[in-house]
Amino acid sequence: MTSTIPKLDGEIKPPFNEEQARYEAERCLTCGTKEVPAPCQVACPAGIDVPGFISAIGAGQWNTARDIIFAENPLGGTCALVCPAPVLCEGACVLNHIELRPVEVACLQRFASDHGFANLANPVRHERSKSKIAVVGAGPSGLACASDLVDRGYQVTIYEAETEAGGLVRTAIAPYRQPTRAIGPEIQALMTKGVQFEFNQALTTREDFQQLEAQYSAIFLGVGLGADMALDVPGHQLAGVWGALPFIERARSGNWTPSARSLVVIGAGNTAIDVARIGIRLRIPDVAVFYRRIPQRMKAYDYEVQEAILEGVHFQWQAIVVEVLGSWRVQGVRCRQMGPVEDSMPFVLNADLVVSAIGQERRAELDTAIQGLTWDGHQLVVDPETGQTANPQYFAAGDAIGGTTVVEAVRGAKIAARGISQWVRRSA
Ligand SMILES: Cc1cc2nc3c(=O)[nH]c(=O)nc-3n(C[C@H](O)[C@H](O)[C@H](O)COP(=O)(O)OP(=O)(O)OC[C@H]3O[C@@H](n4cnc5c(N)ncnc54)[C@H](O)[C@@H]3O)c2cc1C
Repeated sequence: MTSTIPKLDGEIKPPFNEEQARYEAERCLTCGTKEVPAPCQVACPAGIDVPGFISAIGAGQWNTARDIIFAENPLGGTCALVCPAPVLCEGACVLNHIELRPVEVACLQRFASDHGFANLANPVRHERSKSKIAVVGAGPSGLACASDLVDRGYQVTIYEAETEAGGLVRTAIAPYRQPTRAIGPEIQALMTKGVQFEFNQALTTREDFQQLEAQYSAIFLGVGLGADMALDVPGHQLAGVWGALPFIERARSGNWTPSARSLVVIGAGNTAIDVARIGIRLRIPDVAVFYRRIPQRMKAYDYEVQEAILEGVHFQWQAIVVEVLGSWRVQGVRCRQMGPVEDSMPFVLNADLVVSAIGQERRAELDTAIQGLTWDGHQLVVDPETGQTANPQYFAAGDAIGGTTVVEAVRGAKIAARGISQWVRRSA
């Protein structure tokens, strides 16, 4: 009997061949004009001319299609794999209104990007401006901001705490969504067009940032968020209790076969769904997501929840885990039902693994390292028109300012790059 359990790195959407790409491109109605862009383009946070690149694919002009994508989004290949397209470009496709399947924009974007990577690193070199800009963090927002600033002629250096660029894209994206490392060639393209990288540089002290402030005209913070928030219930320290980020990173390594029979996931966002779907692919027979509220309040995309249910994930709605049980390692969880039956008796479920997917900490170390930043809860406050923080030399985008996707990080980074350029020119 063949197993119906999907493979850990089995792609949800395999790549198109040329024939499929042309066929799909011909389904596009190429709606929209320069004055009134097509709904798919409006829905793309990076502002890619979607009908334009799809037309180019239809005409067999792969390089033109790639250039149209990368003109707006230096992480166009990565976004083709990881974007929540059903709620962005594909969700906005006019074919939905006549009850037809929307054009598979993400697969077409992947097709054009894959064909283009060999030629991507061929940028036009601009005259370098005297102004130098520092970017802290080589995740999607830092990379996209650096790309835009170099295109505008600035000298840009990225300081990254880790040994490689990519941020969460390198470690946190579910392996069935991003099996290939699309971001590698994209980073190479940035290096070729003159972005400087300084790895192993975790900048966390006041002294670190004073040095940057003296050397650079402006500083972009693309630092994302910090570690997973800790589960605050008795038993959280037991072996077998994981944070979502180390769990996904371990699964992405590809050499993990946990012997667990049941996995309890705590959380309500897309990360919780990713963990649960990875659990299914790791062949854990019983995978349950615990969420304290009703399904309609879940932050995860509904289409992802539905796919998870089809794959066999159970949902315990309006239920909370009040204790993790076990002597030195997890054996179960004590839970309580919420809502109308709030006074119900606690119940116990067996569990060998518990993964907490309740969000990440903010980068609190920046409070003392940089003067004058303001926060709204976990989010660094910026001017939405310019990305400028309350300290005018600093700009920010991405998860640090409340973003939740790679393409939002790209969008915010482009706004900040324009804001930096205007501010540097005004202050010169
Ligand atoms: C589990 C999970 C799954 C996800 N899946 C998807 C998905 O499928 N699709 C999608 O679009 N988005 C997804 N996201 C969200 C996406 O990964 C983020 O929105 C995006 O990576 C944010 O980019 P960023 O540059 O703001 O931050 P990050 O990606 O976090 O990058 C920040 C970088 O800054 C560096 N850094 C931090 N502090 C310092 C310092 N003091 N000095 C130097 N360097 C520093 C870090 O090492 C890191 O490289 C997922 C997120 C998670 C947690």
